[in-house]
Amino acid sequence: MSNIFVNSYFNSIGNYLKEKFGCKIIKLSLDGGFTCPNRDGTKGIDGCIFCSSEGSGDFASNIPDQIKLLSKKWPSGKYIAYFQSHTNTYAPIEILREKYYEALSYPNVIGIAIATRPDCLSDEVLCLLDEINKKNFLWVELGLQTMHEETANLINRCYPLSTFDKAIENLSRLNIKTVVHLIFGLPGEDKKQMLESLKYVCDKNIFGIKIHLMNVLKNTKLVEFYPDKIHIPTKKEYINLVVDALEIVPQNITIHRITADAPRHLLIAPEWSYEKRTILNGVNKEFKERQSYQGKRLEK
Ligand code: SF4
Repeated sequence: MSNIFVNSYFNSIGNYLKEKFGCKIIKLSLDGGFTCPNRDGTKGIDGCIFCSSEGSGDFASNIPDQIKLLSKKWPSGKYIAYFQSHTNTYAPIEILREKYYEALSYPNVIGIAIATRPDCLSDEVLCLLDEINKKNFLWVELGLQTMHEETANLINRCYPLSTFDKAIENLSRLNIKTVVHLIFGLPGEDKKQMLESLKYVCDKNIFGIKIHLMNVLKNTKLVEFYPDKIHIPTKKEYINLVVDALEIVPQNITIHRITADAPRHLLIAPEWSYEKRTILNGVNKEFKERQSYQGKRLEK
């Protein structure tokens, strides 16, 4: 095995999309007005302990406004409408249908990405996703965060690992691309556990991975763990962890994120979290120094 990536050390989704569609593809962050079963009382009321009340979509706004703004910077760019806020398959099916197809109707929107929970993929939702997937570019994102049940309970995820397994199985059967979210640095987890979660999802039929840095945000339950019951890594420590992680990810899996977006007004720690460019540069430098790349440690 060697480094097969052009001008990169890993299989970034940006490069993947550019190669597939022949131009810059930009994600539009959308709030479809959905709620979350982990907040409305169906599964829980407090939500996951790291989630701000906006539901992991603090940057979302509407499609035409975003296209207007982004097209100034990338005049020939195209877009993926990303349903980001809360649980984007959690609504009556006709509402889901209307919102997804509306997003796809805008000029230069070449596909959609839908973030959801594995316990919100009913048969009728799967059927709709299957219909869309057959005619459009689509991926579905599942927030697993960890494979470890003890941590899942601690973070109040409110579904077991078996639900995730079933969702992956169903999406795979329909050839729907799946992107899995993991969080590095959850309370009580060490590096070994984080990499176990990563290996677990890499052994599934997945399209991509999002690695989130654990951010402590204001107005979340996680604040109660800070600073004594949660380890906040240094930037260098985190960069090393990301490189260690990507070295065991198969090269066909796309990498959608290696840190997390944190609204500055809500961020408590780590204070370097919003330095996305510095983190990416640090990861590239570390790969270069190690003469390494995604999947290197899977070589026989
Ligand atoms: S992280 Fe997702 S599943 Fe958890 S409370 Fe927030 S929106 Fe709901």
